[in-house]
Amino acid sequence: MNNVGIYIHIPFCKARCGYCTFCSTTDLFLQDQYFDKLIEQINASRGGKISTIFIGGGTPSSVSLTNTTRLLQALHAKFDLTNLAEFTVECNPESTTTEYLALLKQYGVNRISFGLQSVNDSTLKRIGRLHNYKVFLQAFDCARQVGFTNINADLIIGLPESKQEFIHSVQTVCTLPLTHISMYALELYPNSPIYNLCKSQYNFDDDTLADMYDQAVEVMSSHGFDRYEISNFAKSGYPCKHNLSYWQQCQYFGFGVSACGFIDDVRYTNPKTLQGYLQTPMHQLIEVEERLSTFDKAVEYVMLGLRLTQGIDLDYLQRQFDFNFFNQFHNSKFLLSRGLLVQQDNRIFIPPEHIYVTNSILVTLFDND
Ligand code: SF4
Repeated sequence: MNNVGIYIHIPFCKARCGYCTFCSTTDLFLQDQYFDKLIEQINASRGGKISTIFIGGGTPSSVSLTNTTRLLQALHAKFDLTNLAEFTVECNPESTTTEYLALLKQYGVNRISFGLQSVNDSTLKRIGRLHNYKVFLQAFDCARQVGFTNINADLIIGLPESKQEFIHSVQTVCTLPLTHISMYALELYPNSPIYNLCKSQYNFDDDTLADMYDQAVEVMSSHGFDRYEISNFAKSGYPCKHNLSYWQQCQYFGFGVSACGFIDDVRYTNPKTLQGYLQTPMHQLIEVEERLSTFDKAVEYVMLGLRLTQGIDLDYLQRQFDFNFFNQFHNSKFLLSRGLLVQQDNRIFIPPEHIYVTNSILVTLFDND
């Protein structure tokens, strides 16, 4: 197998953030046991030539150097990494040390993604983050000194902070020598520690959020960060290759708790809880398995491709999946007539002014009743 990606989930964090929806635990004592299982899963895979790796979490930088080394060595032993184009590790500023970064560099990591979220210290405190902006800057400088030049920072839109504070964050990170900014929408779920605060004091309606998003896009664009996906912005030549491979239906292994993989047209998910992952025997590890038909893959190509600024290629859809966009989606003509979709030659995309409502456009497109 060539040009395959790898996603690895590290579910450990030093503290829980007030909005977290990811699979993570603060029980760092479980890490040795977890890495044993993770490495066992890597060794049990069929291996192959890998083009991108993404180690996310959780907080990969919160685990020991010993376990990090074991994982990196296992990857190098099992896979052919001679054509590796991108190797990203997510880091949280407070747990990123020079030793950790140097270790990553030594094993071929070439991209760091920092969980920054906001540059406003009061916001960071409110949402339960352990770092402040100064700590982020120290970690960022450290990464650059160790030799990393491809660096992303994550921001969140809709946090409990004012609109001005949010825009200040965007303006500030844009002045840093970053190559990439991810800007995710806050997913607020009932019972999360910041739910009441957000609802009572920072209850942004959809129009306000759309306005904040547009302003942020404008600021980023003026600093050379071009949007290539609804939540992702990059300097020229630096879109995240690993994420692009998901959106372009490339194959990838998923290792670790809650990780998904997509190999030979089969999408699989590992157990979603840490105990489930640790206790399930290796041969039963895959919890959900779904074989995608050609039709499923065509539909998924449309759904994922319309999140990208470049949209979808109608010729590719026809050639690869024998799928006619206009015949399959009865609402496509209506969406085109309203300017919610645009066709240019063989491509269809959501125009920039409507990208913030991508989800409702997709709901209409897929509603064939
Ligand atoms: S660092 Fe990320 S994964 Fe860990 S608790 Fe915070 S939001 Fe969740």
